[in-house]
Amino acid sequence: MSSNSGIQIPSRLPLLLTHEGVLLPGSTMRISVETARNMHLVKNRLLKGTSLKSTIIGVIPNTRDPEYDTEDLPTLHSIGTAGLAVQVVGSNWPKPHYTLLITGLCRFRVAQLLKEGPFPVAEVEQLDKLEQYTSPDEMSEAAGPDGELGELSQRFYQAAVQLVGMLDMSVPVVAKLRRLLDSLPRETLPDVLASMIHTSNKEKLQVLDAVSLEERFKKTLPLLTRQIEGLKLLQKTRKPRLDDDKRVLAVRKGGVLPGRQFSLDEEGDDEDGDDTAVLERKVKGANMPEPALRVCLKELKRLKKMPQSMPEYALTRNYLDLMVELPWSKSTTDCLDIHAARVLLDSDHYAMEKLKRRVLEYLAVRQLKSTLKGPILCFVGPPGVGKTSVGRSIARTLGREFHRIALGGVCDQSDIRGHRRTYVGSMPGRIINGLKTVGVNNPVFLLDEVDKLGKSLQGDPASALLEVLDPEQNHSFTDHYLNVAFDLSQVLFIATANSTATIPPALLDRMEVLQVQGYTQEEKVEIAHRHLIPHQLEQHGLTPQQLQIPQDTTQDIISKYTREAGVRSLERKIGAICRAVAVKVAEGHNVTKSEAAPAERSAPQGAEHGEGKRGRRAEEPDGVSADMAAPPDMPIVIDHIALKDILGPHVFEMEVSERLTLPGVAVGLAWTPLGGEIMFVEASRMEGEGQLTLTGQLGDVMKESAHLAMSWLRSNAKTYQLTNLVGGSDPLEGTDIHLHFPAGAVTKDGPSAGVTMVTVLASLFSGRLVRSDVAMTGEITLRGLVLPVGGIKDKVLAAHRAGVKCVIIPKRNEKDLEEIPANVRKELDFVTASNLDEVLNAAFDGGFPGMSNPLTLPHIVSKL
Ligand code: ADP
Repeated sequence: MSSNSGIQIPSRLPLLLTHEGVLLPGSTMRISVETARNMHLVKNRLLKGTSLKSTIIGVIPNTRDPEYDTEDLPTLHSIGTAGLAVQVVGSNWPKPHYTLLITGLCRFRVAQLLKEGPFPVAEVEQLDKLEQYTSPDEMSEAAGPDGELGELSQRFYQAAVQLVGMLDMSVPVVAKLRRLLDSLPRETLPDVLASMIHTSNKEKLQVLDAVSLEERFKKTLPLLTRQIEGLKLLQKTRKPRLDDDKRVLAVRKGGVLPGRQFSLDEEGDDEDGDDTAVLERKVKGANMPEPALRVCLKELKRLKKMPQSMPEYALTRNYLDLMVELPWSKSTTDCLDIHAARVLLDSDHYAMEKLKRRVLEYLAVRQLKSTLKGPILCFVGPPGVGKTSVGRSIARTLGREFHRIALGGVCDQSDIRGHRRTYVGSMPGRIINGLKTVGVNNPVFLLDEVDKLGKSLQGDPASALLEVLDPEQNHSFTDHYLNVAFDLSQVLFIATANSTATIPPALLDRMEVLQVQGYTQEEKVEIAHRHLIPHQLEQHGLTPQQLQIPQDTTQDIISKYTREAGVRSLERKIGAICRAVAVKVAEGHNVTKSEAAPAERSAPQGAEHGEGKRGRRAEEPDGVSADMAAPPDMPIVIDHIALKDILGPHVFEMEVSERLTLPGVAVGLAWTPLGGEIMFVEASRMEGEGQLTLTGQLGDVMKESAHLAMSWLRSNAKTYQLTNLVGGSDPLEGTDIHLHFPAGAVTKDGPSAGVTMVTVLASLFSGRLVRSDVAMTGEITLRGLVLPVGGIKDKVLAAHRAGVKCVIIPKRNEKDLEEIPANVRKELDFVTASNLDEVLNAAFDGGFPGMSNPLTLPHIVSKL
């Protein structure tokens, strides 16, 4: 098939030897140029040359291992492809190299090697015909329809049509390929298809070597048939999806053919002309409900009449694109198996038994009832306790897509419901956007932070959410942007919040609140070792063979570097350790002789093993250190010294006992949306007019508690032998009192600090120290009764975190102690008090003198 008619390639070609594949005529390939010889070719020929001729080079597949690419020119493969360098990109990272985009033109045979260095140049003989442009009709003549060749080419063409027919025609690249099949000369089809379908380099080399057209057809046909069979199998085993088709096609970026440029890019630029036709096809294929389809067709009609330059054209186009993309009737099938769900929830999350049990119940009911009408689960708890991650697990157990919608700070209802299209820059709301992102109409939507919804002049987003969440209404949810109803009834909504207090009541009414409490120290250690550490190691590309964090260290991180109910900052600290170690390990990889020594010095001291190993290597005499590039063989173990090196000095160290060295200080327990906290309440007195000053951003309820405490102590001053500064029995006479709640930047409110205030003041007036290992909570009355308060579990866990030994709680909160993990209960003494006598008696060593009724001894529920 050697022909000299048509376009001629230069008879002398510089040769590029490539290991990366086989360039066939009619296809385009990216080649990375790294060897010295090829670099010379690019620099001296492609970058310096100015004529078109100088951009044509010979590409020869090099079958030898690139490792052996030495000075000597290897034996050249005798056949190569002349290629046009379309693009040259240079880069210095990670080492100097060029990337060439080359389009194959025709085969050539190396006739004689003219020179070898700095890059090879050869006298070549052109093997394929290179025509300007052949129309399909001329082409059939050219290919010669007669004889065996004609029959072969017909068979090949039919197989190619069959292959393309099996792919999804709505993908632009497939549609384009179909058109190419008809318009390309048949003789070019084997090369073009061989470079597109899955073939090994060896097979491609055989196609390249098949110089005669007949042989080429024969070589390529079985490859094509194999691909068709593979596709058939795939379609049988799987629901055909667009992505699969695309993958199977494995189209190499482009398909440029002799004499004219085709781009097989997905964007399909030649579609501009029948842009609207494609859109119309998509609209009809989107399977949308009747009303939506009507709107789309109407918009489409308007679009067709509009000139493209009109601003509204883009608006309408965007609208239609969104409508087409929305998953009107695409959904995933639920694959719920309660047993598997239990296993998955357990393997994803440690502890949180109550929550997991409730989630399983919820799923089981769903399985039995197979409808979604029911309350929406709302996980309420401090940050970092795994609310989001349980939501994600639910999606996994159901086999559904997961999407998180962050509602924190959203104060405009169009965030939920979208803007009307009359606005400039109008957009759909987050719900519709989420559906577009997941591409199915039955995902799990996690509405994160529903308690942080705001309100503004732009309307109340909470009321928009109501419609979204109401099963009676949400089957026809209308986003302002879409302006047609979308059925949300298949979406599974889960909400999370830090506290129920700020969730709008109407919204709260639709939800079933599941409290997620903070973790104990032991639970955190387990979570760290089972989940956080393995996860962080993986994220940082480390293995347990490289980094080990013993349990003692984890405990140190938890108690000395974090103070939180969840595990988020714990995870961050572990991440910080991984980063520090990753640097060490990476240094171990690339260390050069001169860098080795300083790297040693900065290594964490605890990293004895890895460091020691490298240390020894660095001391080795010159020339022996070649193996320094190896990573440390022994894991880097993080002990407390290494921990201090990486995370810095301890962040939380002050022991409770150190704060309680003066009369007038006591430890209260507070509940915040971020979990429980301990709070040092301080009081001092000075000469004055009997004023009570309160500082620390207190709310009204708390101020009232302070007055209550004061009044109760004044009325009982005699009984308790309390004195003022001048020795009188009215604590306020000639005295000013100042009560302070530290961390003044945070507003505090609620009645639960009542008992603490009484204790602080009692300590101040009696001059006695409060027991340093006691913390307390409880509301008081003017009569000295102690009333129950909320958040007992979080408060007790906070006290335990802070190292408190005894907790005073209201008697009527005794039932809440059951929720507290057994190991925490074991380590704490609980005093349940029903009146202030009992509180004071427990708060001071040896009781408080002058108890009004010595028989009411505090009830110690010691070590339950
Ligand atoms: P939230 O949504 O409650 O603020 P996240 O779900 O984002 O918290 O959790 C923070 C991190 O802590 C995640 O990496 C999560 O996997 C992890 N985590 C929290 N609780 C657990 C648990 N019980 N078991 C395993 N990992 C947990």
